[in-house]
This record gives sequence, C-alpha cells and structure tokens, in this order.
Amino acid sequence: MAAANGGRDPGAEDGRRDLVVVGSANADLVVTVDRRPAAGETVLGSDLAVHPGGKGANQAVAAARLGARTALLARVGDDAHGRLLLDSQRAAGVDTGGVLVGGAPTGVALITVDPSGDNSIVVAPGANARLAPADVRAARGLLATARVVSVQLEIPLETVAEVARTVPPGTRLVVNASPPVPLPPAVAAACAVLVVNEHEARVLLEGDPAAGASGPEERARALLARGPQAVVVTLGAAGALVADRRGVVRVPSPAVTPVDTTGAGDAFTGALCLRLAAGDDLAAAVRFAVRVGAVSVTRRGAQGSYPTAAQLDGPTP
Ligand code: ADP
Repeated sequence: MAAANGGRDPGAEDGRRDLVVVGSANADLVVTVDRRPAAGETVLGSDLAVHPGGKGANQAVAAARLGARTALLARVGDDAHGRLLLDSQRAAGVDTGGVLVGGAPTGVALITVDPSGDNSIVVAPGANARLAPADVRAARGLLATARVVSVQLEIPLETVAEVARTVPPGTRLVVNASPPVPLPPAVAAACAVLVVNEHEARVLLEGDPAAGASGPEERARALLARGPQAVVVTLGAAGALVADRRGVVRVPSPAVTPVDTTGAGDAFTGALCLRLAAGDDLAAAVRFAVRVGAVSVTRRGAQGSYPTAAQLDGPTP
C-alpha cells in the first residue's frame, strides 16, 4: 500500500511528535428528512452533505487545529471519500504520511437526521476494518516519534492490541473506548488514560458487580480496577471526571448554549492528548479539554466545529 504523501515525514523535524492517532476515517453522508423511514419505506430527504469524520480522523484534526504536531495512522480507500479525508487532515496540519490507501472503499457513515435532531446511522467500515496489526508493526518507527499515542475502537480490536504492544516505554497510550467494546486485559493494562462517555462507561460495565447501582464516580473506579493508570469519563454539559489511584475529581464544563454536539467527545480527546503531550498533569489536561469540548458544541458539525488555539483564547467561551 502506498503512503498517502509519498513517504515524506513533515512532522518529524526534531524527531518528536506530540500525538500519533491510530484509528478510523469515515466519510459522513448526511441527509435531513422530515421523518426517518420505517422498514420497507422510502422517504425523500434534503440534498446530500458529505463531511470528513470517523473518530480517529476527528481526534487528529482536533489536536492539530490546537497546534499539536500530529500524525494519523489510518486506512482509506483509493476513492473520492479517501481524498476528502486526506485533504481535511492536511488542511488541519496533520501529517498523513502514515495513512494507507487502498484495500477496500473508504469507510462511510450513512446518517439520516430528523427535525428534532435525532439520527439513524449505518456504518460501512470499509478500509477501517482492513487496518491490520501488520500495518501497526510497519509503522513502529512512526509510533516511536510520539509523546502520546491514541486509539479508538472503530478499527479491529487485534489492531488496537498491536498498538498497545508496540507503543514504546515512555510514550503514553490513550484509549478512547468508543464504540464500547470490552478491552482485552493487556490493552487495559497498557493504557495510561482510558476515555469514555457516560453511555460507554455503562456499556463496558454491564454485568460487573463492582459498578453496582452506581453513579459516574463509582463507574470510573470500577473501570480503573480493570488496569488503566487513569480513567476519564465525559459527562456532556456537566464536564468530565478524572479517576486515578489518588481519587476521583470532577471538572465542570463552561456553560454554553449547545448548537450541535456531534464530535464533542472527539474534540475533548484530541485536546486532552495535546495537553498530556505538553506535560500537563491529567486534571489540568482535562480542564483544557472541557473548554475545547464546550466550544465545539457551540458550532455545527464535527471537524468544522473544532477551535484553533487562537479561537479558544478569543471571545468564544
Ligand atoms: P460524546 O460526544 O462522546 O457523547 P460528551 O457528550 O460527554 O461526549 O461531551 C464531551 C465533552 O464535550 C464534555 O466533557 C464537555 O466538555 C463538552 N460538552 C458536551 N456537551 C456539552 C454541553 N451541552 N455544554 C458544554 N460542554 C459540553
């Protein structure tokens, strides 16, 4: 497979990157409808809107827009959606040298949205499902340049496990367990920070007596007991909480009027990785990340809603 930019390595002038994201890249195909169709039914909708998305691609863009030296390891198809994704990464300043092209069509999310904002989504993983452990092994040199490596679960779990094995000592592994697939114990143990939202925390703990009839604090502690060094649970408008061996701390989010919460968790996680790479302790990194998440919900879209550092310090919240 060809590397998308012909093997150039623009982010590595001094040999270090803040962040290498290993994850998914999807084209989001969005149609607004008056009513989502029932089985066997056809409805007419709006014009088609095509947006770059996928949790890996979103998180890389979020971090890079804030100034992180970021590279993406992902797989897209040799098609128009793949080119859209590569263009959006490069426009944000992400090094796409590790993006593999070919093997299957680019992953696609088919999204219908009704007037209340509720949506139905079908994902065709396409090339994301072909991002293989061998691709991670081949990218060992890229991973070795990173202060932080992040991964989400829209790629095969054996590929995530290979990332956990490959990350060198001294590099922090951030795992965003989204969608919420049970983590192999070796991945949980390699994880410096596990990031989940409330829904994902609940799903991961289904059937776990340690979670009991609990709130987010108890769930965070129960996830911590599975091996990561720290757990962050995002709480939407309520911000996030941080759990590590010293205890659990709540970090409130700035109060904003949300317009569109799509991709807020990805904005949060990209920002968190940036600040961890800069040397912040986890609570300080989460205080920064909730500000970025809050700004992202005041604007439409996912990647298009992510602030630059200047916008974050400007008149926006
Ligand atoms: P996800 O997008 O994965 O469902 P959350 O809804 O928990 O994740 O949002 C992630 C982060 O985005 C939150 O921790 C918070 O900082 C910010 N955020 C989300 N919704 C709001 C909101 N309504 N008001 C302020 N901040 C928000």
